[in-house]
Amino acid sequence: MSKFLDERYSGLAAYVPGEQPQDKKYIKLNTNESPFPPSEEVLKAVNESQIELLRLYPDPDGRVLTKKLADYYGVKPSQVFLANGSDDILNFAFMAYGANGRKSYFADITYGFYSVFANLHLSDYTEIPLEKDFNIDVNKFCGVDGIVFIANPNAPTGIALSLNEIEKIVKSNENNIVVIDEAYVDFGAESAVKLVDKYSNLLVVQTYSKSRSMAGARLGFAIGSEEIINDLHKLRYSTNPYNINRLTLVAGEKTIDSQSYYDDNCKKIIEARSYTKTELEKLGFSVLDSKANFLFAETDKIDGGELYLKLKEKGILVRHFTSERIKNFNRITIGTQEQMECLVETIKDILEGN
Ligand code: PMP
Repeated sequence: MSKFLDERYSGLAAYVPGEQPQDKKYIKLNTNESPFPPSEEVLKAVNESQIELLRLYPDPDGRVLTKKLADYYGVKPSQVFLANGSDDILNFAFMAYGANGRKSYFADITYGFYSVFANLHLSDYTEIPLEKDFNIDVNKFCGVDGIVFIANPNAPTGIALSLNEIEKIVKSNENNIVVIDEAYVDFGAESAVKLVDKYSNLLVVQTYSKSRSMAGARLGFAIGSEEIINDLHKLRYSTNPYNINRLTLVAGEKTIDSQSYYDDNCKKIIEARSYTKTELEKLGFSVLDSKANFLFAETDKIDGGELYLKLKEKGILVRHFTSERIKNFNRITIGTQEQMECLVETIKDILEGN
């Protein structure tokens, strides 16, 4: 740390992204990316003529993509906000509604960036403990006095709330914004987009990084009431109006045009998830009921940290967290069926002492 850094950032514990080692080729099951490439339409569209256009700024309002998303989700373009990944949107939401001593609420075990943003923006935040079985007690999120962040499905557990439960939280917080982070919603949970016209305090956040195979392009979007979307635009125009590059915008548009390809990929992931859960359970793991593209699993046969290291040695990366309540677990991204078969065989070998 330099002596020049503003004092308020000196204690900041920054977010730690999943590792990306360069020493060899791994089966990468640690950052919840898609194992499938973008669709043919996307691959064709991001071509030389688009690259030539890189000398020009992108449309700061991403109007073509905004309209396509609005049509797809049955909302008005003025209810859609685009950003450089959904992290960008979560950052704006904390900045707009939970900063400088204002209150924010999220689960104790959830996406690690919430507490990082809360600290960055000097939010007065409360981590609401999940139940013993890692479920969310909805009542604890009702009628609070600050912005609420809920990942649905939750990460790293994969457990999802029903739309009724989400509605209960949104309805009971009419004086606060409720952000539903749907990064993993396409793998089996119900989207709260249906509720945005009913509740002006609801902001639904989604990403192209998981089901839409575009983690490397950085694209996220939010859907909510016009008032909230306008607030977010104000902050975006005050930081970086060109936050989405041209190639990403084009790829994002073509993704919506080839939705059936992505729906098929989600089906494949759900099947591979079900296979992996069954096989891990046969090996003595307990595996939470995931509606996401990952499983959260532990066993008393091997320590979670040790399993993570042994898998890494054998060329498979999974994500291990060290916080007390979840340190015996590993979060395993669902890849292709072949990758998951390889994971299961490798874990068998490890448990047999090889
Ligand atoms: N929300 C959740 C729950 C996540 O797990 C992630 C991915 N790490 C994000 C948001 C951010 O995704 P991105 O910025 O790639 O859209």
